[in-house]
Amino acid sequence: MKGMRISEIFYSVQGEGVLCGVPSVFVRTSGCNLRCRWCDTPYASWSPEGREWSVDEVFKEVQSFGMARHVVLTGGEPMLAAGLAELSRRLHGAGYHITIETAGTVSPGEVVYDLASLSPKLSGSVPSSDAFGVGWVEKHEKLRLQPAVLREWIGGGDYQLKFVVGSRAELDEVGRLVSALGLAVPHHKVLLMPEGVESGSLLEKGRLVAEWCKEAGYRYCDRLHVHLYGHTRGT
Ligand code: SF4
Repeated sequence: MKGMRISEIFYSVQGEGVLCGVPSVFVRTSGCNLRCRWCDTPYASWSPEGREWSVDEVFKEVQSFGMARHVVLTGGEPMLAAGLAELSRRLHGAGYHITIETAGTVSPGEVVYDLASLSPKLSGSVPSSDAFGVGWVEKHEKLRLQPAVLREWIGGGDYQLKFVVGSRAELDEVGRLVSALGLAVPHHKVLLMPEGVESGSLLEKGRLVAEWCKEAGYRYCDRLHVHLYGHTRGT
C-alpha cells in the first residue's frame, strides 16, 4: 500500500484557533491541491518534502510523545494523504483528540475528527501566474471554494472556520461566503487571523483584524507559535 508522505511530525502547542495553547502532536503531510499566494509551508505544498511513512510508523511516532492527548493532522492538504482515514481512526480509537486542518476542498469521507479546522481560501489567495503559471491560477480559483464540501464537514462534527484577512474588502468577502453556506453558523465559530510570519507585523495587522472582529462579531485568531518561536519549522 502507498505510504503517507510526511513533511514533519513534532510536538508543540497549538498556535491557532479554539485549542490555542493546547500541547499537540502535529502530523504535517506533504502535498497540496492549492497554491496560495501567501502560503507559509511551501515545503509541504508546492515543494513537497519528506519520505513516505506507513500508518503504523506515524501512529508509533505520535505515541512517542507521551504527554500528548491532542493530534493535529495538517499539511499541505492532509485530505490528499493516502491512509489519513485509517490513521485518524487508529488515533481516535487510542483516545486522542483529532483536529483536521484543511482548506475544505475535499470531502471528509471516512476520516474521523473531533474538530474540523476549515480554512476556505479567499480571492486574495490566488497566486500570480508569474510564480505558478496560468494553469495553477485557474486550478486554484476553480477549487478554492467548495460550499457543498464545507457543509459536509460542518455537518459531521465540531468545527471552526478560519480566514486569513488583510483588508476590509476581505471581511465583506468572509460575510458573503458564510452566508452562502446557508447554515446557521454562530459568529464565534468564524475566526479571523492576520497574515504574517513575524511577531511585530502580526501584532500590527492584528489590531486592525481585531477591530473587524468587533464589528462583525467574529472571533479573533492569533498565531501564538509565531510569537513564541518565530517563523520556524517544527513549531
Ligand atoms: S492550502 Fe494551505 S498548504 Fe495549500 S497552498 Fe494554501 S496555505 Fe499552503
